[in-house]
Amino acid sequence: MYACDEERMRDLIETFSKFGDTGHGGVTRYALSAEDAQARAEFIRRMEAIGAVIEADDLANMYATLPGTDASAKRIVMGSHADSVRNGGNYDGILGVMSAMEVLTTVAREGIAHRHPLTAMIWTNEEGSLYPPSMMCSGITCYDWLPEAVKGGFRYDDMMASRAIDGPARTFGEALAEFPYRGDAERRISPEKACCYFETHIEQGPILEEAGCELGVVDCVIGMFMYRIRFLGETTHAGTFPMPRRRDAFYAASEALRHLHDRLDALDVDDLVYTTGEVTCHPNVHTCVPDVFEFTLDVRHEDPAVIERARDVVLSLTERTWAGCSCEVELAWQRDTTPFDARLRGFVEDACERAGVSHMPIHSGAGHDAQFAAYMLPTTMIFVQSRAGLSHCEREHSSVRHCAEGATVMLNAALSADAALA
Ligand SMILES: [Zn+2]
Repeated sequence: MYACDEERMRDLIETFSKFGDTGHGGVTRYALSAEDAQARAEFIRRMEAIGAVIEADDLANMYATLPGTDASAKRIVMGSHADSVRNGGNYDGILGVMSAMEVLTTVAREGIAHRHPLTAMIWTNEEGSLYPPSMMCSGITCYDWLPEAVKGGFRYDDMMASRAIDGPARTFGEALAEFPYRGDAERRISPEKACCYFETHIEQGPILEEAGCELGVVDCVIGMFMYRIRFLGETTHAGTFPMPRRRDAFYAASEALRHLHDRLDALDVDDLVYTTGEVTCHPNVHTCVPDVFEFTLDVRHEDPAVIERARDVVLSLTERTWAGCSCEVELAWQRDTTPFDARLRGFVEDACERAGVSHMPIHSGAGHDAQFAAYMLPTTMIFVQSRAGLSHCEREHSSVRHCAEGATVMLNAALSADAALA
């Protein structure tokens, strides 16, 4: 049983919080920005100082590796992303990078014996907040192992052509070509090079805090679908056309949304979550009755059978008219529940027990690089308690103690993997 260092963790958090500091408690650190480059430079500086070998692949994913005693053994990889959303917090993503750095630092400083090489990793552009989609570079890296339905969203050429949604009109490929930390494709993480992957991340929800648990042993990323639901009516003058003869698409959508909530709630399933987060209204002019109204519905649950029951509810919307408007639904995105590796989860749970850290099994409702890595390698995640469940905002917070405990658990789980894996 080895322990990571709380003071070093505090120093890591304070240091990385400066790269993209917004001045009011958070960071904006877009992928491939100058701020991202500062974080990479710090990663290299600290990892070289403990004798790790630094590499970067063609996507600017970065790797710092401490060799083990067996030169033929595959790497045990730990990491997450260094980019953030706009006005994001100091923990989402970067905590997994800092935890991996702290694990390697503890191993190097204390001379902990290990057979496999230990690698701390940074994934490029997980958030996709400047260059969509999210999880871009894990999508490209793990492409050959992804389910067919997911692959289409991560074709290399499409990703390189992804255009910045903010600031100068550049593509991801153009930004990558100018980024100082781009290496070559041969360096990419793969099953030939790595035997497993651990990712420590903040929970980004309130469950651990409310349960009084410091860490979560993540068992899966829950399945989801997202539909675009469209209502087609007729536009006409807001002042001259009689009410009874209107076909108002916005009003139709409001009735249908209410109906959706009633029907989904009536499924009476624990942990089913659904959200309408995006709408479009046409022509979106106050003097015109809307003729087209569209909203998204994002639905998530662990059990594929529940997902299918929820899908039936969505599809049934098209069977009737709504306030005189027709309804179309279009599947925009879906993923199956991705279970994490049972053996690695066992190592994490065991490490929590030995470290005396309170823990519970938990699902991930959000996507992470680990979700795509799991198709390629035995993978698991460790969640660190979030304060008040807040994330993707400047008030995002996890205590230094909990962050250090997360690193301690990842260290000991990695050492269990070192002893057990070929
Ligand atoms: Zn993240």
